[in-house]
Amino acid sequence: MTSPARSSFRKALVGLTALSILVSSGPARAAEGETLLRDTEIEAILRKDAEPIMKAAGIDPKAVQILLIGSKDLNAFAGPGTMGVFTGLIMESKTPNELQGVIGHEVGHLAAGHSARSGEMSAAGMRPFLLTMGLSLLAALAGSGEAAAALAGSSTYFGTLGALGYSREQEGRADMAGAALLQSAGISGRGLRDFFQNFVFLEAFQNAKDYAYFRSHPISQARISSLDARVQKSPYYDKVDTPEALAEHEIMKAKLRGFMTPTIAIVKCSDKVQDYPTRYACAIAQYQMKEPDKAIRLIDALLVEQPDNPYLWELKGQILFEFARAAEAEAPQRRSVALMPDAPLLRINLGQTLIALSDRKKIDEGIVELRKALTQEQDNVVAWRLLAQAYDTIGEDGLARLATAEYSSYLGDSRQALVFAMRAREMLTKDSPEWRRATDIVLTSKPSKEDLQDLAREGSIRRGSLN
Ligand SMILES: [Zn+2]
Repeated sequence: MTSPARSSFRKALVGLTALSILVSSGPARAAEGETLLRDTEIEAILRKDAEPIMKAAGIDPKAVQILLIGSKDLNAFAGPGTMGVFTGLIMESKTPNELQGVIGHEVGHLAAGHSARSGEMSAAGMRPFLLTMGLSLLAALAGSGEAAAALAGSSTYFGTLGALGYSREQEGRADMAGAALLQSAGISGRGLRDFFQNFVFLEAFQNAKDYAYFRSHPISQARISSLDARVQKSPYYDKVDTPEALAEHEIMKAKLRGFMTPTIAIVKCSDKVQDYPTRYACAIAQYQMKEPDKAIRLIDALLVEQPDNPYLWELKGQILFEFARAAEAEAPQRRSVALMPDAPLLRINLGQTLIALSDRKKIDEGIVELRKALTQEQDNVVAWRLLAQAYDTIGEDGLARLATAEYSSYLGDSRQALVFAMRAREMLTKDSPEWRRATDIVLTSKPSKEDLQDLAREGSIRRGSLN
């Protein structure tokens, strides 16, 4: 599944978590209000749901970036190296099996070689857009004009993908391919049939226009009947979701409810509520409704029961940081990283807190955390931006400019990348690895003829590359 499209797509990717707030307060709202969300917990659950299906299709799951898109639309797409799942689809899926069914159908389009759509995706993948990262970082991003512009760009991007349609024949083939993939993966196709069945009469309804997915994936009763016959043939037809998978699905939905519709989630909250997902949603909703103390109280109660849950520590740290209690955020964030050392987003949260503490030792440690995260996600623009801030604070001007050049480059702003990489080169030690990296950024950021001549004169590039 590797392709040139994949590498350019990944390059455009950078970190992000529940970004709904940024969208609702920024100019991006006018452009549909869709954005990419990053959340370590939800990404892990989606990955568990999708991996067996990808493997059945001969796709290396590690080569696929799973994107969580914040949108009410019921939508999903799969392209080379990328799979997108809309939050609307997650909220409407009653079970992991239904969600896996839709994923199976989308991967079925890929497996059936419906390449028009993936071709469109490759073209769209060339466009820079912003994935941001934790709610804790909203403050930093909200004031950033280029971030808002990039978000607006991403709305158009996903709008384009959502609108890419297939023929009815292609839909039928994707159903069959999807059912076959589910069967090879040992998963029942019942959820796929049920999910589509729920929407079969949709075209008759007024609100059909709200469901772009079914405009691009037309459903007919005949199609459902063929699908039904096919999935019933599978030896796994009666296989049901494990209790663990069902519980994770509920946690994922609860988290999204708390972040995206807190005023609705809060209605279910009272001291009598016992189940974990609802209490989790209540804590998040309180946080979203700017009641940090109430939120922390609820999280502390959950932590008594699950002291080793990294996501609860992450959430606690995030709330404390966001409500200007960075010193208190440090311990919970350290705990989340200790429990899940391979999760770059948790490390970035910790790094952000450490560099906000006016203590040189902590700032240095924060820089180490951000750099570690960037070895796993080198295109995470939020981490680059924080790193630039940290270097600036400690007077490492050359490194600060280099980090800003990286940030701009991954954001797709080659003009800014060029300016900052040129400045970085003037400040960094000649021939050091950082200086060489700055030179690379200059060369890939549409330098002018004069820039190239300067580089050639100092011997950084050979004259031949001027042509
Ligand atoms: Zn389809």
